[in-house]
Formats: sequence, structure tokens, C-alpha cells
Amino acid sequence: MEEENLEYNEFISKFPQTVQHMWLAELTSYKIGGLADLYIKAENILDIPKFVQIAQDLGIRYYLLGGGCNIIFSDKGFRGLVIHNKADKIEVQGNKIVAESGAMLGQVIAKARKHELGGIIKMIGLPGTIGGAIYGNAGAKGVEIGDFVENVKLFDKEFGVKEENHDYFQFSYRTSILKKTHEIVLSVSLSLPSLNAGDTAPEIVRFRIENQPKGNTAGSFFKNPTLNESAGFLIDKAGLKGLEKGDIRVSELHGNWLINNGNGTQEDVVSLAREIKNEVYRQFKISLEPENIIIDEYGNKVDI
Ligand SMILES: Cc1cc2nc3c(=O)[nH]c(=O)nc-3n(C[C@H](O)[C@H](O)[C@H](O)COP(=O)(O)OP(=O)(O)OC[C@H]3O[C@@H](n4cnc5c(N)ncnc54)[C@H](O)[C@@H]3O)c2cc1C
Repeated sequence: MEEENLEYNEFISKFPQTVQHMWLAELTSYKIGGLADLYIKAENILDIPKFVQIAQDLGIRYYLLGGGCNIIFSDKGFRGLVIHNKADKIEVQGNKIVAESGAMLGQVIAKARKHELGGIIKMIGLPGTIGGAIYGNAGAKGVEIGDFVENVKLFDKEFGVKEENHDYFQFSYRTSILKKTHEIVLSVSLSLPSLNAGDTAPEIVRFRIENQPKGNTAGSFFKNPTLNESAGFLIDKAGLKGLEKGDIRVSELHGNWLINNGNGTQEDVVSLAREIKNEVYRQFKISLEPENIIIDEYGNKVDI
């Protein structure tokens, strides 16, 4: 611990804007998570490689945070440095949008609409950054971000900055190769079709308002096990809507959404999610896998 503090001090001396003991709950849509030892904002996209390199040289564990809309941090916080991606420049070049990875998907969509570009408009209302969207191949209404990715500038602590095109990412339902490689998206170039009459934003927004629960959540907790059977349908059929653990409950409106009533913890989420998974398996012999990312205080994935 003593040694780790010395390394923290060294990092802070290089980057005096570093915050110590930052509440992670404030940075996530679930409002869950204890204190991160260190926290720093990356306002400029090239800050990210700089922070990662120094953290790595000092042996400090790091975690890159985007919008915090798909992550459930530990109640014990994070033993290391949380780098908060705030680099959000967006440029339009013909039918292409080039965005820094900290740009909110909503901002990218707004810019696209302004320039009569469509496609991604179906994801209107999907929160989080474009970097986080690429990591998990976020999608809605039959489209996924991967459908529009042309190429991406990545940072990897071993190889530095490199560019990769669409095929490299092996996009499929709510996943990309980044879940294995842990490379960081610095910026992305999206190729978009022209906006057409079917791209009616108000209808999509209305659908979200009417069908999505309100409150502290990160959207769908489990992935849909098949194209035909949604996790929400199975959870509903299993009679689990409204089930509660601590201050976390299964939404009555949408069975696959877990809501933090206010004082919910990661422990509550994990215990509720395990009960849901076990019950769905007991009744239907279908094993649900989480879409939300749950990590312990050392950044390791917590299995459900
Ligand atoms: C109300 C609500 C509705 C939602 N609806 C949908 C939906 O319709 N469809 C859907 O797919 N999802 C949905 N989600 C989930 C969430 O919006 C997406 O998963 C989103 O893409 C997460 O982006 P983020 O920036 O918040 O990622 P974060 O939660 O900050 O991070 C998630 C993961 O991505 C990694 N990551 C973040 N940025 C980068 C980067 N630049 N490079 C590499 N890795 C990175 C992080 O390290 C972390 O492992 C919803 C969430 C909420 C709260």
C-alpha cells in the first residue's frame, strides 16, 4: 500500500489535475460504485495514450470510462486510475463523420442529421460515447454502430497508435474484438447513408419514452439469448418483474431492466441478476449472459 501511494504521488506530480478519491457512482447511469483511488479527465484525445503510458510505467492499474452507461463498478471502488474520456470533437466530411471517441453518440447523431445523413439515427436516445458504443457494438431498432464503422484509430499500450478498418473489429451482437484486445478507441470514421424519409426521429424517441423504464439503470441487463426470444420476455414469463434485492429491482415495465431505487449496490445487482439467471434457467433451460459490464475493485470481470 505504501509503495502504491508513492506511485500515485508520482502520477499526481506529473498530472496535478488528478483527483484523489473520486466517487464512481456519480459517473455512471446506475449510480453505483465506491471511490476510485485516482481520477483524471482526458479533454484532449492524445491525453489518453499519455495517461496510459505513464500509469503503466508506474505500475498503476487503469480503467477507461466513457459515458458510464454500461458499467457497474464495485461498491469498494477502483484501486487505480479511472481515465474519463471527454475528448469529443466531431467533423463531417461528405458522407463521413469523424468523431473523437469521447463524443456522445447523441451528439454524433445530431451532427449527422444536421448534414442530412441517416442510418445511425435509429439509435437516437441510446446514451454513452461513440467509443463505448464501438466497444460493445451498441445498437437499436435493427442497426448497430458496427454497420457504419469505416475505420478506427486505436491505441494499444504495446503497439502505440494504429488504424484498423471495419473487418478487424469482428462486430457481432453486442460485441467486438475490443472485449478481447482491450485496445482503446481514439477516434472513428463512420460512413453514413443519406437521411431518408423513413428516418423519423420523433417516432423513435416516442418509442423509447413509452417503452423504456425511467430511473438509474444501464438499459438491458442481459443479452437476448436468441433473435426470437428476448431476455425481457423470458424474465417476464418467469414471473420475475418487480423482484427486488436490496435497493435494486426488476422493472415492472421491462423485465430486462434493473433499476436502482437510490441506494442500490453492486452486491444487490449481482445477487438479483444471479437469481434471475438461475430462475430463467430452471424454468426454460436457457442461460442468460449479461450485457452490462460488472467489475471488481481491481478491474476484473464479475461473473453472474
Ligand atoms: C437508458 C439507457 C438505454 C440504453 N439503451 C441501449 C440500447 O438501446 N442499445 C444498446 O446497445 N445499449 C443501450 N444502453 C447501454 C449503453 O448505452 C451502451 O452500452 C453504450 O454504448 C455504453 O457507452 P459508454 O460510453 O457509456 O460506455 P461505458 O459504460 O463508459 O463503458 C463500457 C465499456 O466500454 C469501454 N470503453 C469505453 N470507451 C471506450 C473506448 N474509447 N475505447 C475502448 N473501450 C472503451 C469501457 O472501458 C467499458 O469496458 C442503454 C443504457 C441506458 C442507461
